[in-house]
Amino acid sequence: MMAELMTARYLVYLAAYLADQGREEFKYVASLAKFYTTEVAEKIVSKAIDVHGGVGVIHETGIERFLRDVKITEIYEGANNIQRLVAFRQLVRTLMKKGIVSQDIAKSIT
Ligand SMILES: Cc1cc2nc3c(=O)[nH]c(=O)nc-3n(C[C@H](O)[C@H](O)[C@H](O)COP(=O)(O)OP(=O)(O)OC[C@H]3O[C@@H](n4cnc5c(N)ncnc54)[C@H](O)[C@@H]3O)c2cc1C
Repeated sequence: MMAELMTARYLVYLAAYLADQGREEFKYVASLAKFYTTEVAEKIVSKAIDVHGGVGVIHETGIERFLRDVKITEIYEGANNIQRLVAFRQLVRTLMKKGIVSQDIAKSIT
């Protein structure tokens, strides 16, 4: 869990760094960061509920609320499946600019 949390955190820092540098890869990394961090957050909250056992899902304890709160982060600000598409398209565009993928192939798959 700690490894995933730290990976998620550093992905966000990398996206912020690339944005500060005005680098084009920012768009790609920001999309990766959005879907990865929100999915890691959901996993961590789910584990937190496990730790509390049955009490974790009782409304009055407020713990299950975290799961609802974290779930929505996978949906708004660009649903995660859409972020995957954005990241994929951005990666293909970058590979096209570097001449690794031809323009025809890039157009057909994006
Ligand atoms: C609490 C809350 C606050 C919000 N605040 C704002 C706000 O301030 N401003 C604003 O503009 N909007 C806001 N929204 C709306 C939010 O941006 C949308 O809910 C979000 O874009 C997802 O759209 P949708 O709900 O229509 O789901 P859909 O677009 O119908 O998506 C449903 C599911 O299908 C998947 N999906 C959709 N298209 C594809 C595709 N092409 N390929 C693969 N999978 C796909 C999605 O990943 C998702 O899992 C808010 C929503 C909520 C719940």
